Amino acid sequence: MEKLSIVVPCYNEEAAIPIFYKVIKETLENMKLKYEIIFVDDGSKDKTLEILKSIKDDKVKYISFSRNFGKEAAMLAGLEEAAGDYIAPMDADLQDPPSLLPVMYDILKTEDFDCVGTRRVTRKGEPKIRSFFARMFYRIINKISKVEMVDGARDFRLMKRCVVDAILSLKECNRYSKGIFSFVGFKTKWLEYENIERVAGTTKWSFWKLFLYAVEGIVSFSVAPLSISILMGLLFILISFIILITMFFVGFSSTLILLTIIINCFGLSFVFTGIVSIYLSKLFLESKNRPIYIVREKN
Ligand code: UDP
Ligand code: MG
Repeated sequence: MEKLSIVVPCYNEEAAIPIFYKVIKETLENMKLKYEIIFVDDGSKDKTLEILKSIKDDKVKYISFSRNFGKEAAMLAGLEEAAGDYIAPMDADLQDPPSLLPVMYDILKTEDFDCVGTRRVTRKGEPKIRSFFARMFYRIINKISKVEMVDGARDFRLMKRCVVDAILSLKECNRYSKGIFSFVGFKTKWLEYENIERVAGTTKWSFWKLFLYAVEGIVSFSVAPLSISILMGLLFILISFIILITMFFVGFSSTLILLTIIINCFGLSFVFTGIVSIYLSKLFLESKNRPIYIVREKN
């Protein structure tokens, strides 16, 4: 019989976990499959770990981090632990409807897909300004990056083993899931649904955290900002040439010559900083090689 693994990153989810567990348990029992639920406690400061330990169920596993490493790290730890033929990461707040799981499983069984992803078609219940910046982010990153990022795509997806193995074969420390998921490719079918508000607790994302996340996405999957600095340098050099040529016709002045030299130097330094940064950034990302998470305890 085939096995399904559910991976649940949890950060301060004491209020949501009991509700989530009840609903997911019911769904999985009805699916007539072997299954496991892997909760990853991402260094929670509330009773999350206590609650996880109190669940007496041999199908439930938990991994607890030594501190908060972020959702990406928690998801990775869960995917590494998962032993299923099918694997689905899910949020603990029931914003990823468990009722979709049987539908997704059915698609993978009967159609020629390796992965079923979900995307929100509305951003109902989200601050307007946040939706605006999210939309802008997707527009920019899709212009400057070779992998396609789907607007509104959630991390909630059901994947065949081969997709997860491919994801785990990417060893980079800067893990930007949305990028990694599309980088590995495979045939993906998208299910759309309306945004659902979280069942309990509060969102862990501040505007600043989201901003850093967006920057991370751009830096991990595009070197366009570096090329832009080179372009800017070339622009400066062009301007200085235009000034030089103008002076040739209009007549020289020492102030203008000085100005031209300054602008030229600016241009050149932009170009060289840009080129060096490209090499440096590659080296930097490769060389850190720190563990992505540290486990304090697990069962
Ligand atoms: N999460 C986590 N580590 C973090 C932040 C969030 O493991 O540092 C988990 C969180 O417990 C939840 C999921 O990631 O299960 C999504 O977080 P949240 O619901 O706060 O994000 P939103 O749905 O508002 O985008
Ligand atoms: Mg949520």
